[in-house]
Amino acid sequence: MSSTAEKHSFQAEVNEVLSLVVNSLYSHREVFLRELISNAADAIDQLNFRALTEHELLQGDRELRIELLRDEAAGTLTIRDNGVGMTHDELISHLGTIARSGSKKLMQSLTAEQKKDVTLIGQFGVGFYSAFLVADRVTVTSKKAGSDEAWTWESQAKGDFEVRPAERAGRGTDIVLHLKDDAKEYLQEWSLRDVVRKYSDYVRWPIRMQVERKDGDEQKTEWQTVNQARALWTRPKGEVTDEQHEEFYKSLSHDWQPPLAWTHFKVEGTHELTGLLYLPEKAPFDLVERKKSGVKLFVKRVFIMDDAQEIVPEWLRFVRGVIDSEDLPLNVSREILQKDATTRFIKKQVIGRTLTLLEELAAEGEIERDVDGEKQKVDRYRTFWGEFGRMLKEGVYHEPEARERLAKLLRFSTTHGGGAAQTGLADYVARMPEGQKSIYYVAADNLAAAKSSPHIEALAKHGHEVLLMTDAIDEWVVDALREFDDKPFVSAAKGALELPESEEEKQQKEQREQELKPVLERAQHALEALVKQVRTTDRLTDSPACLVSDEHGMSARQERVLREAGHDVPQQKRILELNATHPVVAKLAGIEDEARFADWAALLYDQALLAEGSLPSDPAAFSRRLANLMAGN
Ligand code: ADP
Repeated sequence: MSSTAEKHSFQAEVNEVLSLVVNSLYSHREVFLRELISNAADAIDQLNFRALTEHELLQGDRELRIELLRDEAAGTLTIRDNGVGMTHDELISHLGTIARSGSKKLMQSLTAEQKKDVTLIGQFGVGFYSAFLVADRVTVTSKKAGSDEAWTWESQAKGDFEVRPAERAGRGTDIVLHLKDDAKEYLQEWSLRDVVRKYSDYVRWPIRMQVERKDGDEQKTEWQTVNQARALWTRPKGEVTDEQHEEFYKSLSHDWQPPLAWTHFKVEGTHELTGLLYLPEKAPFDLVERKKSGVKLFVKRVFIMDDAQEIVPEWLRFVRGVIDSEDLPLNVSREILQKDATTRFIKKQVIGRTLTLLEELAAEGEIERDVDGEKQKVDRYRTFWGEFGRMLKEGVYHEPEARERLAKLLRFSTTHGGGAAQTGLADYVARMPEGQKSIYYVAADNLAAAKSSPHIEALAKHGHEVLLMTDAIDEWVVDALREFDDKPFVSAAKGALELPESEEEKQQKEQREQELKPVLERAQHALEALVKQVRTTDRLTDSPACLVSDEHGMSARQERVLREAGHDVPQQKRILELNATHPVVAKLAGIEDEARFADWAALLYDQALLAEGSLPSDPAAFSRRLANLMAGN
């Protein structure tokens, strides 16, 4: 270690990632090259973008390129770029920490078994650190564009790295891999060329390497470009193979799994643009907190920005890909993007094309697909929904213009078929028996609670299917939609249900109500502090009581979700409904002692709370009353 060298420790998460990478027996370790070349291409993109306004940055080295240098004697492979480079501080922060929020939590949550699964680490985005799949020592020398200083970063992935001053002729970065003994194959021209072709052919900058060529008897060495060096999205659709899409997607997203599906499109006319959008197979671990978009914006093939939130709505933040616009100015900034009418057009395209892709997947159903060399039956839309369904629900809420199309893509658990499957709304409507005018739903914390909710007893008896909503956002989604196919959504726990009934049933009901009037009034008096009203109901068949909200009021669950999110929501009194045909209610009517009556009424109220998954209003008082009742008092 030279006297001016500084030692730094890696952030704890980086050490975890490194130990996984170093110890992994990953069979496709050649992906390190894809990751490093992808970083190099990004660095060139950034330089190219800055050079639009700072022309002097290109001076002396105008031909933007990536070079692969093999040194058999030293056992090293160097990935060199003349991109934007890194400063002293950037070397330390970019190659010593993982910036993504929640990465620590993810690392801690992985089991030892999961940690062996390198595709999982891939999803986590190891990027640069994948160099240690093939190297036991990595030396990075970099000079930031516009700076005179060069610095070297070096590490053996053993907890720390060193940074020292260095010499470098021009701007850019050299990543020198001191290859492990069992990774020396990457020093051979042919195997290296194969790997580049396989993993990085789509890279838009030339990737050059020195190759041996026989010229007569003479052995000559010359530089050759080994990739097509043409942006993938600019090639005709039919010419891009599935494999190329897969590798392009992986380099774009740092995902190690192929994408679930993609759409490649060109728009011509008043506006011109090319787009390439991918749906990942798995949600990234930080999907919910992440607000960045995964779509890169290019203007006339020049990279402009990474997370162009202006052209991708937040609810589509799982989409990865590229938009290349012909209309935006090259000097476009976020401020311009926010005002430019082209931005709205592009955003509409991104939304529209993604929805079309999703509609195609939903219509496709189950297909046979090659998964790791084996034919398997897969339903891509179901996979998508399981990972990203929640994002579409956010879309319903935030994107009124897309609501109608999104509604058809929603899936909910349902009482149909025993409650195991999920259904789309169109299928629900198709199954509606004659006479049913509404789409019924019930919301609860989990499927079991929703299925056994007292609120749906009578609906089930009448043969009405009920959607079982367990996601906190579901009720807001339904409130935003209001109806589907002209059928209003009706909560089984709100308002009056208005189930069809015969004249005879109606009369019987009215008579019971008349008889029970005094009991209802007494109960209302006893529970005055807790409920708005006590009334009879035809919602229940087996349970004695339940609580309902006003037709347009917030449900108890919505209130709770808001409160948990830190909102100050006043507790609304709800309506206690009694099942007039239940023996408990008949017994209640017979209790003359007011104190005892009040205890029973309170017990009915509390058990209505329990049945919907809430806690009794006063658990200690509830226990006391229940014990008294059990003791026969
Ligand atoms: P990611 O690319 O997902 O951000 P990496 O671990 O691959 O994660 O790289 C970390 C960061 O290091 C990059 O975001 C970039 O800022 C910087 N970096 C890596 N390689 C280069 C390079 N060749 N030139 C300039 N910067 C680089």
